[in-house]
Amino acid sequence: MNDGFYERMEIDQSAAELVRKSEKKVAGFLEKQEETAQYNQWKIVDAMQKYGLGQRHFSVSTGYGYGDEGREITEKIYAEVFGGEDAIVRPHITSGTHAISLCLYGVLRSGDELLSVTGAPYDTIHSLLAPSEEDLGTLGDLGITYRQLDLTDQGMDYPGLEEALKNKPKMVYLQRSTGYAWRKALTMDEIEKAIVRIKEIHPQAVVMVDNCYGEFIEKMEPTEVGADLMAGSLIKNPGGGIAPTGGYVVGKKKWVARAAARLSAPGIGKETGATMGISRQYLQGLFLAPHVVLQALKTAIVAAEAFSSLGFQVCPKPEDDRSDIIQAIQLDEEEKLLRFCRAVQSASPVDSYVTPYPWDMPGYEEQVVMAAGAFMEGSSIELSADGPMKAPYIVYLQGGLTYEHGKMGIIKALSSLTRENA
Ligand SMILES: *Cc1c(COP(=O)(O)O)cnc(C)c1O
Repeated sequence: MNDGFYERMEIDQSAAELVRKSEKKVAGFLEKQEETAQYNQWKIVDAMQKYGLGQRHFSVSTGYGYGDEGREITEKIYAEVFGGEDAIVRPHITSGTHAISLCLYGVLRSGDELLSVTGAPYDTIHSLLAPSEEDLGTLGDLGITYRQLDLTDQGMDYPGLEEALKNKPKMVYLQRSTGYAWRKALTMDEIEKAIVRIKEIHPQAVVMVDNCYGEFIEKMEPTEVGADLMAGSLIKNPGGGIAPTGGYVVGKKKWVARAAARLSAPGIGKETGATMGISRQYLQGLFLAPHVVLQALKTAIVAAEAFSSLGFQVCPKPEDDRSDIIQAIQLDEEEKLLRFCRAVQSASPVDSYVTPYPWDMPGYEEQVVMAAGAFMEGSSIELSADGPMKAPYIVYLQGGLTYEHGKMGIIKALSSLTRENA
């Protein structure tokens, strides 16, 4: 293939060659991920068959949405797949942050303590924690205290955990994915071990996991290894690139009911919420999710290999076990971060002509530059790259609905960065 395509796309042959070599080198690391995708695909189909998913579930509900069968079966299938007792899967949950906030507000009451044991939560959660000047009803405004235990280089700080649990926090919070941090995602083994220990010391603790970007990377999910509650975004992994908006909450019935009381109102809970025909997309997206996640993982692993072979620091490394779809690459220079994101944007099927600039995104402390030429606005299961504008200028690359497209983004980014070095 050529016909001027490489010139038009500003792709260097040397970058394409480097990616070909990288693919060969990491082939062995992809096998485990392929097997996981296989397992999760079957697990999902099994759940769909168990509840008798049929065409009739794809009808359109309106108004209050009482007895919306599509919504009800979607939530049963989510609960089954994630090993929870119940689930909320709705377009009325506007984002991952919203899904997480439903869990926090649902469980925590005045005088309670929230303890994060994986360091600072994701940036957009920060605004929920401290008292606010405008009295917006943050957890701090409501008299809920927040404490945090940082991760160590070895992972969970177990001596610190024992100490912190003496205070009997109502909720213990874990974030599986890296967020904008230079750390590997917590593996399911690490999450399970932490939950077992937490429950040993403080059995009443409600263990909550921010599962954003973690779905279907492994065979198990946090709610299958003891988490009481977990939340995520449908424009990330579980939406499979098909869900146009929404979020989910899965967990123990009691806690899911409390989150539902926040989403609608106490007394109404999960009973209302017209889905206006979205259930087909949610379920088809879930069906595709394990395969799509595999595409994103291939993209991440090949990118890790290609960039580390050029001397860049990468996290995780190509050979590392993974528990989210994020690939962090330390670029060291502001100019390189901009170039990387602009190259990924220019590889996009949508808005390829747009030049990303850093901006003050709601909920983020630094300016963020973001490349997302996605069919669903802001979707980061689609190929996307972003990073806060601060040293050491780390880019977070994630997504890729097809590996073929993810590869195009990697080659364009490599072309843009190496051209500068030449
Ligand atoms: C994306 C993300 C969130 C927040 O989700 P939004 O949909 O952006 O609000 C929370 N935690 C983690 C780890 C995330 O990756």
